[in-house]
Amino acid sequence: MVRQLESARKELVESEERYRTLAAIDPLTGLYNRRYFFETALKEFYKAERASRTIAVVMLDLDLFKITNDVHGHAAGDAVLKEVSARLVAALRLSDTACRFGGEEFVIALPETSIEQAGQIAERIRGSIEQTPIIHGRHVMNITASLGISQFQGAGSNRIISEKDIDRAVSRADKALYKAKNAGRNTVAFCP
Ligand code: GH3
Ligand code: MG
Ligand code: MG
Repeated sequence: MVRQLESARKELVESEERYRTLAAIDPLTGLYNRRYFFETALKEFYKAERASRTIAVVMLDLDLFKITNDVHGHAAGDAVLKEVSARLVAALRLSDTACRFGGEEFVIALPETSIEQAGQIAERIRGSIEQTPIIHGRHVMNITASLGISQFQGAGSNRIISEKDIDRAVSRADKALYKAKNAGRNTVAFCP
């Protein structure tokens, strides 16, 4: 009886874990989703706030992706999203959190990273997307992305970090992204 209970409990814990993982992952790209990003970022921002450290936030948006979909079809577009995600992960450290924020938009939090270092990483990501065309069946797609960077600076306090702090950093990265788009796309821009 005790054994049966124990095994039922174990199964429950395992299925709960599976469920939690599923709830955190974007099924197309295998990246974390927006919800998980906020959960993780809250912890990272809190640590950075206490230790007066910086976190860089990078927002990436594929350029003219609507045209890619129109010309090559939605399945080819999906293949692009998968491949871009793989290149993104390859350019990052284990401690960085990359997520699919929405359609063709990605957000990355880089703990303990200065804005200059984030600029170099973003440039590397931009290059890795531009350099090699993405192939899906007979479709050969030249893809580029624009990236915007902002920074959160911890103040060395015990202040409770809320989603508002993260929202603010993300929306400043989004403003920088807008600058990159206006500068002609396929470029990296910084939040002033
Ligand atoms: P911009 O350079 O200004 O960002 O132009 P854009 O065409 O990328 O921007 P827009 O927001 O007009 O279009 C985004 C496109 O992304 C439209 C939509 O069809 C496509 N998209 C969003 N999610 C998915 C997806 O899951 N799969 C595919 N294949 N396409 C997607
Ligand atoms: Mg977009
Ligand atoms: Mg776009």
